[in-house]
Amino acid sequence: MSALYGTYARSPLAFERGEGVRLFSQDGTRYLDFHAGIAVNALGHADPHLVDTLKSAAEKVWHTSNVFTIPEQERLGQRLVDATFADAVFFTNSGAEALECAIKTARHYFWAKGETDRYEIIAFTGSFHGRTLGTIAAAGNPHYVEGFGPPLEGFVHVAPGDLEAVDAAITSRTCAILIEPVQGEGGVTAMTPEFMRGLRALCDKHGMLLVLDEVQCGYGRTGKFFAHEWSGIEPDVMAVAKGIGGGFPLGACLAKGEVSKSMVPGTHGSTYGGNPLACTIGNAVLDRILEPGFIPHVDQMGQKLAWHLQQLQQRFPHYIVELRGKGLLAGIKIADSVPVRDFVARLRDDHQMLTQGAGENVVRLLPPLIITEADIAEAAEKIGDAFAALDAETAHEHVTA
Ligand SMILES: *Cc1c(COP(=O)(O)O)cnc(C)c1O
Repeated sequence: MSALYGTYARSPLAFERGEGVRLFSQDGTRYLDFHAGIAVNALGHADPHLVDTLKSAAEKVWHTSNVFTIPEQERLGQRLVDATFADAVFFTNSGAEALECAIKTARHYFWAKGETDRYEIIAFTGSFHGRTLGTIAAAGNPHYVEGFGPPLEGFVHVAPGDLEAVDAAITSRTCAILIEPVQGEGGVTAMTPEFMRGLRALCDKHGMLLVLDEVQCGYGRTGKFFAHEWSGIEPDVMAVAKGIGGGFPLGACLAKGEVSKSMVPGTHGSTYGGNPLACTIGNAVLDRILEPGFIPHVDQMGQKLAWHLQQLQQRFPHYIVELRGKGLLAGIKIADSVPVRDFVARLRDDHQMLTQGAGENVVRLLPPLIITEADIAEAAEKIGDAFAALDAETAHEHVTA
């Protein structure tokens, strides 16, 4: 009996070491990692640059406080500003905290302008923004909200992709639109560039802020540094986490200078957020992500993966209903006759490949961004073997029935 909260239906599988896109369990079995700690291990496991950085950082200052200047944090902030739309950054320890900062920033911007009733945010069904009281209300998924008292007020939800519904939901109270450019947990649904541009246009027309949640789809995963770059638009505020720390807990809220300027001393804070150790690692991750050729490699691998998945769809049209996602955030929507939980377990236990389920019966593929063509071919073979085994079992059932 575990001493831990029962909030996860955990597999008994535990890992001892990792190397690139491979993980080794306690009994020495080697796994192909298309899970990456849910899109966190962007550089795979035991990346030499990250290991060296952590070792030398361990002998220096781990933590001070945000009441002092933290040079590594200043440097990481400046590098993110130089590489994005943003002018200012607030560092956090997680994605949900990055979203909390984004929501507070958007609301406070209007409050400071004297528009104190303007705090409502339009968000989308099927989204996921984290597990704090604020972020469960923001996403509005009834499964996550129910039983935890009155949800935080000020969020309205419309279906993603429906620009008219968004337009109709705008009132004098609306301050922002909040969206994941590619929904991760909800079912790996990529927004179209037209829809993203439409949201930007609505925000411009009504003087609202566009707030993006790129916690999962950002940091190179779709083949651009940030997923919104595919649509050629810029947000006003953006939440980032997961890949940013390469496995070290780190998140960030990025904003345009005009929008962040009301966040003065006393409005927000974090004890750990952006501490020296976290930002030293964050800088090392960014060294690799911004290396020339790194993000183009992700784009190429994303295209290879899509090609292999299309081949599989032709072979197994009775199982593969739809291919979804963008780059190395890929989704396979499978037939309802095969619950995604079971298929993920099959890939793990019978084919030594790690994947993650998502909403709408979608298998999510989230490999480390350093993946090679050979790794992708191996993954496609394992997925093909898993579907073929299902076919064989179904045929057997027909014979014995
Ligand atoms: C994972 C995730 C979050 C929450 O991040 P945590 O670090 O678990 O708090 C928020 N938004 C999206 C899109 C995510 O994928």
